Order: sequence, then C-alpha cells, then structure tokens
Amino acid sequence: MEGKQWNAQVAKDSRDWAFIVVLLVLCWPIGLLMLLRKSNVDRSATFKGGGVAGVMGWILTILGLFGMLGSRFEVATMITSAGLLTGGILLIVKSKQMNAKAKKYRLYISIVVNEGETSIDRIAQSAGMDADEVQIALQEMLDRGFFHGHINQKTRELVLAKSGVEAKDVGNIQFAVVRCENCGADNKVALGHVQRCAYCRSLIRTNADGSLVSGR
Ligand SMILES: [Zn+2]
Repeated sequence: MEGKQWNAQVAKDSRDWAFIVVLLVLCWPIGLLMLLRKSNVDRSATFKGGGVAGVMGWILTILGLFGMLGSRFEVATMITSAGLLTGGILLIVKSKQMNAKAKKYRLYISIVVNEGETSIDRIAQSAGMDADEVQIALQEMLDRGFFHGHINQKTRELVLAKSGVEAKDVGNIQFAVVRCENCGADNKVALGHVQRCAYCRSLIRTNADGSLVSGR
C-alpha cells in the first residue's frame, strides 16, 4: 500500500469522524450510536473514540448550559438545551469508559506483543489486575481480532497463532521494528512503505531511515 492509498485512507477516516461529529451536534443519540459502532467495528478507532466523545461531550454540555441560561424560560429552547446537556453528560461518561478500555488494551498489547508475555497470571501480575478480568479482556481482544489465537484454559496461557504478515527480509527491502502510534504495538515494517499495524490495523508509514510519518 503506497502514498495514494494512504491519502485515501486518511481522507476516509477524517470523513467518518467529521460525519459523527456533525451527527452528534444535530442529533446526539444517533451520533453516539455511530461513534460506539465505529469504535467497536474499527479496531484503530477503539483508541480514538474516547477522545472524540470527550471533546464533543464538553461542547454539547456548554451549548446546553448556554441554551438554558439564555432560554428566558421558553419551553422549546429549554427542552432543546436540556437535550444537549443530557447528551453532553452522557458523552463525557462514555468517553471515560472508552478511554479506560483503550488504556487497558494498550497495556495488554504492550505486555503481550512488546514484552512477549503470554501467561495470563503473569500478564495480570504485570498489569496489576485480577487474572479473571485479564482473561475476559484478552478473550474480547481475540474476538475482535487484536490478537490471533486462543486461550488455553489448562495452562492459562494466550496461544498466539504465528502472524501471517510476518515480514521476511527479501531483496533490498529493509525492515525495522516500529512502534504503532495508535495502539503501541511493535510492528516489523518495510522501511519507506505504508503498512497496517498487525494489531489495530491503523496505518504505519515509515521513511527510509525508519522514522515514522505521522498521518493523523
Ligand atoms: Zn496499532
């Protein structure tokens, strides 16, 4: 995947988020549903959804408050403002939940991918979490495709399938390990090319010297 596809993907992603932002202002219940859907379906959006929800939550809350103050007890304005205020508060609460989940996912990716730890008990110890809670989260990440493999209940271990995109050093293409800016996973990438993160599928583009090109 090269420059053109990179630009097209970045543009599509910006359009998706802009659409959600507009929907949140015009009709927040639908906007919120779209936001949750994108964060659940699109793995890379899992790490961004909370931020968008937080900013929009505050905007709606402030609009709602100003609307209330300026309503002069007009019923229609008061109802609209109360609606905005409700949506704003709900979005702020949702954003906190989404950010907490993204933080947990990043932590597990860092322990499993970057440190190579697969024992559930040791992952739990490392993360300072309850082992059962870790197992549920890892299963969720397996179901959503962040990891490929399964959990061995007997050995209490995360068994990862060999990554199908494991890059081989061929010809004069140089590879380097680059950390995904979105989920924090170390990825082996071909230098100077555009690839997707093997874990969250966000785009990773490197310069020939191995430095990251930030797209968003
Ligand atoms: Zn990633």
